[in-house]
Amino acid sequence: MWDLDESTGAIVDKFMIGLKRRNPGENEFHQAVYEVAGSVMPYILDHKQYRDAYILERMTEPDRVISFRVCWEDDKGHIRANRGYRVQFNNAIGPYKGGLRFHPSVNLSILKFLGFEQTFKNSLTTLPMGGGKGGSDFNPKGKSSREVMRFCQSFMATLYNHIGAKRDVPAGDIGVGGREIGYLFGQYKRLANEFTGVLTGKGLSYGGSLIRPEATGYGCVYFANEMMKHKGEDISGKVCVVSGSGNVAQFTVEKLLHLGAKPVSMSDSGGSIYDENGITEEKLAFIKDLKNNRRGRIKEYADKYGCQYLEGQRPWGIKCDAAFPCATQNEICGDDAQTLVNNGCRMVSEGANMPTDMPGVNVFMKAQILYAPSKAANAGGVATSGLEMTQNATALPWTREEVDQKLLGIMKNIHGQCVKYGESGSGVDYVKGANVAGFVKVADAMLAHGAV
Ligand code: NDP
Repeated sequence: MWDLDESTGAIVDKFMIGLKRRNPGENEFHQAVYEVAGSVMPYILDHKQYRDAYILERMTEPDRVISFRVCWEDDKGHIRANRGYRVQFNNAIGPYKGGLRFHPSVNLSILKFLGFEQTFKNSLTTLPMGGGKGGSDFNPKGKSSREVMRFCQSFMATLYNHIGAKRDVPAGDIGVGGREIGYLFGQYKRLANEFTGVLTGKGLSYGGSLIRPEATGYGCVYFANEMMKHKGEDISGKVCVVSGSGNVAQFTVEKLLHLGAKPVSMSDSGGSIYDENGITEEKLAFIKDLKNNRRGRIKEYADKYGCQYLEGQRPWGIKCDAAFPCATQNEICGDDAQTLVNNGCRMVSEGANMPTDMPGVNVFMKAQILYAPSKAANAGGVATSGLEMTQNATALPWTREEVDQKLLGIMKNIHGQCVKYGESGSGVDYVKGANVAGFVKVADAMLAHGAV
């Protein structure tokens, strides 16, 4: 039991000591929990029912973690072995839902942080989805499509025991796009001998939803626009820096263009491009072909359009009005955040998951800029996955316009929830708003279910 005479900060620190002892070395997971605990603790301390039920302790322990060996054969006939995971974090409000990540950096800490965040994010969408995440340290880069297919088939050979349309519905994430979802779905269908909506992000010909590929990036920009509108402005005419050049980054840039903003940068793990004249629809089409079909490097953009290439650098030194980190976790550190603020950046909307580290978040909060944490800003992806599940369940596909309108409505609703729980005299604290709003729904469901 917590000592209620102590300060909230001291209670959070003690809570974190216990969490770190139970999860040693899992730094990303510690970081994600600390950020949530800091903002929901005052709310929990004010509400006896959550304290008495040990809700935060229970919410920070995954329901289960599945870890398995994935053996596959490369094109030279050599046997290779990777590790696969599925973290089923919390299904209090619906089946586990969250992406699969294939990247050499994948480990249990990263997947637990992502699964934990996913639980809050999915709650914010208002759709009935619990939180989960999975993946492998397999690196799809440099592999042939046949190798990727053999890996996906082997991965699914174990995963299929643990997922299902009403149990756990994975989707894509870093390194898992339409091609990989297709192979995973094909193998599930073969093994289970059933055609169900067990994965989202599927191709249109076999149960996918229109707008799902676009949804995370579009939603991130819709959310940014809502933040600006709440202050009586909008995003048009704003100079924007975007990191990444994968799924989320591409559609963030696309929606920025639709709304009249001026995106000037994108990046990959090799470096960033800075196009002072702005990335246009035509230049974006070049990036999509480069990244999705030819699987090339972003430097080719700088060579083709004669703009600056910042080798080995992220784009945070570029002067801008707004920043959209859309590559990976912890890509904005405290110094990067300070540089952005000093250069006049007044808004950050996170397309990637937890792209800003704690010192960076503190810089944004202190500067009182509009700062949308990922669990609110990038929830459009999983929300549209939820819409894909509904279409699969009813066997009725919706039009592009219908899905886009629902996505916009969901992002507005998430913004409204953040305002409800995060607004004070000094403006909206979107971190607090998103964390408390996400927490309340899951916590109330857990209370209703008793000690399970
Ligand atoms: P992709 O694999 O399509 O693209 C990832 C991009 O980020 C690539 O440009 C990649 O560069 C870059 N990147 C990845 N790792 C690093 C790294 N360690 N350092 C620098 N650059 C890196 O992934 P997504 O666009 O799908 O995902 C991006 C982020 O958005 C992730 O944080 C993901 O969790 C989050 N997200 C994605 C959703 C979705 O619907 N896809 C939903 C919600 C969140 P390179 O090609 O050189 O590796």
